[in-house]
Amino acid sequence: MASNVHFLMIPLMCPGHLIPMVDMAKLIAQHSATVTIVITPRNATRFGSVLHRAVASGHPIRILELQFPASEYGLPEGCESVDDLPTFNLSKNFFDASAKLQEPLEEVFNELKPRPSCIISDKHLAWTSDVAKKFQIPWVIFDGMSCFTQLATHNLCASKVHEHVGDFDPILLPGLPDKITMTKSQLPGLFNPGKSAKAKELKSVREKIRAAEIGAYGTVINTFEELETRYIDEYRKVKQRVWCIGPFSQSNKNDLDKAQRGTNGSITNHECITWLDGQKLGSVVYVCLGSLTRLTPPQFIELALGLEESESPFILVVKGGSQTEEIEKWLEEDGFEERVKGRGVLIHGWAPQVLILSHPSLGAFLTHCGWNSTIEGICAGVPMITWPQFAEQFFNERVAVDVVGTGVGVGAESVMHLGEEDSDLVQVKREDVCKAVRIVMDEGIEGQERREKAKYFRGVAEKALEDGGSSQLNLKLFIEDIIVHMSKGLAGVIIKGHMPRDEGSRY
Ligand code: UDP
Repeated sequence: MASNVHFLMIPLMCPGHLIPMVDMAKLIAQHSATVTIVITPRNATRFGSVLHRAVASGHPIRILELQFPASEYGLPEGCESVDDLPTFNLSKNFFDASAKLQEPLEEVFNELKPRPSCIISDKHLAWTSDVAKKFQIPWVIFDGMSCFTQLATHNLCASKVHEHVGDFDPILLPGLPDKITMTKSQLPGLFNPGKSAKAKELKSVREKIRAAEIGAYGTVINTFEELETRYIDEYRKVKQRVWCIGPFSQSNKNDLDKAQRGTNGSITNHECITWLDGQKLGSVVYVCLGSLTRLTPPQFIELALGLEESESPFILVVKGGSQTEEIEKWLEEDGFEERVKGRGVLIHGWAPQVLILSHPSLGAFLTHCGWNSTIEGICAGVPMITWPQFAEQFFNERVAVDVVGTGVGVGAESVMHLGEEDSDLVQVKREDVCKAVRIVMDEGIEGQERREKAKYFRGVAEKALEDGGSSQLNLKLFIEDIIVHMSKGLAGVIIKGHMPRDEGSRY
């Protein structure tokens, strides 16, 4: 493919957004297209090893480091990622600081060679559409969500059914290929913004994102045709140029890349794998609620005791946050670690998730249903225990449980709103956790069927990015589209001697 096509990729500095864009950068560069990824210094250290290895192996990837103005926006020095925030009440400050990257980016834009042909930006960075407009190149958004979520969001915005119901009344999601119900309390902030002043502050950010999104040239999505076929088909009826080019985590072929999608936690990757090697095939429950979820101490205790009661071997990832000390204190005083010694492993900090998920001892994934984790769980070919927390995660739970059919819910009922993460709320009890683990690990017919389905989807996911696979094809079509767009633009410059007139563009 033409090597003068150049994608400028601008991720939101947050693991669940940056990691898939790093993976996507590698996938695009494998097609000989140049990719420049914008990153801040601390994130370059944290997530850069995979990129550096890709560069060293000859892929045309460049890293553009821009300083993040944390302290100017009241953020602690070195806070360059959403998961570094001491409290999510500072989210708006973080978005404001991110928008400040526009100026330095525009200053260096013309020095990037070849001239960027397209911006692929996280959709949450609405200001990047202005950069694309200024330099007259297409603005393609990376939407870190599924097509199910896209379609459900689009239809709810159009129908407004959620505006006329109580918080816990069931809503039949309008216009979906399957009959799927949810309650308003499970819907993301756009439809269910919460009552705190801080949560309302994000309303303007959400509205800006939604308004900018409408003008995007196209959307790239971390999904694949075979996973949510009917939802993709429907979504394409309402949105032009939707390229499904995932699952991105499949870009990590060797164990080092699988392990180094973030910094190390409290045990080495080697120790973790050695422990897994000693467990029975398909027996271990891996429990990780993503990079941002901060369980309250009472909620964490219920989770830990539920796992203990389930009697399955497990890996439990314990994340930091304002109440970590209290959690660590409980772990020490209660003697939990001692009681589950040999059967349960705790990872304090960052876990090598994709490496763990690829281990044959894995039997189930208890997930918060972030879209990356959901699709990584699907690629792993194991059933999922779903415990959505916030944002669009309850939509993803429906994908796992109703669309793919490999998920079992723990029974979470409401999204966690901004500012609620420090409350003493306990949504899910130890018996709920234990019950869901036992259902999923059960060796009876239902459990077997779930496992068979999970294996089927793993096989399909593996093929999607291979030669001739659906995502490989979509990726080629995407790059070709931008090349055609670029050639039209260049012809305009040469023939008319002015900036290209872009007839196909919607901005
Ligand atoms: N992740 C990881 N180790 C951890 C926590 C998260 O590797 O300890 C990765 C995970 O594999 C996924 C991303 O971080 O790629 C989290 O994204 P997701 O959309 O699942 O959830 P979020 O963190 O955005 O809530």
